[in-house]
Amino acid sequence: MIQPIIANSVIERLRALINGVKNVVITCHLSPDGDAIGSSLALCHVLHRLGKNAFVVTPDMIPKSLHFLPDMRDVIVHSKTELRARYMVEHAQLIFCLDFNDMRRIDKLGELIMQQTAPRVLIDHHLDPRDNFDLTISFPEMSSTCELVFRLLMQLHMLNLIDRYAAQCLMVGMMTDTGNFTYSCENPELYEIQAALMRRHIDRQNLYNLAMNTFTANSLRLQGYALSEKMQLFEHKGAALITLNQDELKRFGYRKGDTEGLVNKPLAIPEIHWVTFFRQDPEYIKVSCRSQGDFSVNEICNKYFNGGGHTNAAGGEFYGTIEQAVEAFMQILEEIPDIHPEQTK
Ligand code: 5GP
Ligand code: MN
Repeated sequence: MIQPIIANSVIERLRALINGVKNVVITCHLSPDGDAIGSSLALCHVLHRLGKNAFVVTPDMIPKSLHFLPDMRDVIVHSKTELRARYMVEHAQLIFCLDFNDMRRIDKLGELIMQQTAPRVLIDHHLDPRDNFDLTISFPEMSSTCELVFRLLMQLHMLNLIDRYAAQCLMVGMMTDTGNFTYSCENPELYEIQAALMRRHIDRQNLYNLAMNTFTANSLRLQGYALSEKMQLFEHKGAALITLNQDELKRFGYRKGDTEGLVNKPLAIPEIHWVTFFRQDPEYIKVSCRSQGDFSVNEICNKYFNGGGHTNAAGGEFYGTIEQAVEAFMQILEEIPDIHPEQTK
């Protein structure tokens, strides 16, 4: 039995907002992942079936690894086709913001959305949502925004509108945000939702292979190199660090998405419960952190890297050289108390 978690007053407000409009825009966070784009496409699909004129507008490009998702060709990418994205946003009567918690996280598209009078509805599972939304549906205890969208549709009595396409999108988001149900995966209701999606005749094995187990040779070699040559362990703090600079990325013909999953790998070592990965992108150093147990990488990313996320998965940005980022990391190591791995594993 899947219990309702969203207050009826919220459900009714949302129903009224949806009923009153024709043009809807759905947006999600920068560098959309499976959950961001999966939840957006699924909701868009359901809104189409309700007769709405709905579009997904993303702040930037979607990684190639997710292009297999249905209706991907209709997605409007703000950084690529800005005029078209602006037109859609300016004509939207309702704007859904999925899988992020602060309009500032989506850059210029966020600024554009903030200039509109259309109500903004947040549907998200990150910690500490900001108050720049008209209706906030935020449940950090959810595995994924896709899980939350399913529950929302259930409470709106719209499960019949989840067809095979929408089910594929929701399944992919739930899979990618839980490492194929290996973390944030303890709630039994998650498997009831999975079962409901499976009944829409989706090919789960194929979705897993496409979304989570397809890598280029370059990407596998880059990840092998990173683990073999660039992983440092600090067992006394339960920490691991991986860095990749521009030269190294170039050497392996780096493409967006090529380091997906790398940051999780050192967690396989029993002594390690916290991993930091610095990747030197053109504009800044992208920070990715993962942890197990109570150790909050959200707090670390918030405090030191102008970012955030979840307790066990968070990210941020560092402006400076890789060497300076490593220095900052060493300082953090000094500041955090020793945590005995057996407490967290
Ligand atoms: P990833 O390491 O996969 O990029 O991100 C892990 C989690 O942290 C995701 O839920 C993502 O939304 C969040 N996150 C990543 N980068 C940032 C950032 O720069 N700022 C904030 N607030 N959250 C981030
Ligand atoms: Mn998510």
